[in-house]
Amino acid sequence: MLRAMSKPLRAGGEVDSWCTKCKLVLNHRVIAMVGGTPVRVECSTCMSHHNFRARAPGEKAPSTARASSGTAGPRSTRATSATKAQQAALDRERSWEKAVSGKAVSEFKNYRVDEIFSEGDLIRHKKFGDGVVTRILDQRKVEILFKDEPRTLAQGLTD
Ligand SMILES: [Zn+2]
Repeated sequence: MLRAMSKPLRAGGEVDSWCTKCKLVLNHRVIAMVGGTPVRVECSTCMSHHNFRARAPGEKAPSTARASSGTAGPRSTRATSATKAQQAALDRERSWEKAVSGKAVSEFKNYRVDEIFSEGDLIRHKKFGDGVVTRILDQRKVEILFKDEPRTLAQGLTD
């Protein structure tokens, strides 16, 4: 069994899945699991419920190369107890804080699937809270960093 993911999947957890409605691979919430595999998921973008599908129909391999940049950078001599994952989470939270702290409410855009975002946009999501657009993945997908973790959400959807 594949155990590549850092977090064990469970019902109520989150997973990237093909959304049959948005027609994109997006962040989903797991509704039902069978034998360690998600079977039913809820799209975080359109809230539709459908079967879990790890990638787009007809796609052979995962397109998201979410590998870390592979930096063998300077190792902190003090924080030796923190694992790489913990360090990455800390770094993320720090950059999230830096991005959203002290910002006026009026600087945040409410998240909508038909909105077009730019890198650095401040987002208010009704479910995930405040976030910042960290990457434009393509015309229809953005990566938004929320306090707990980054999520892939849709943009520019017209229907
Ligand atoms: Zn959807």
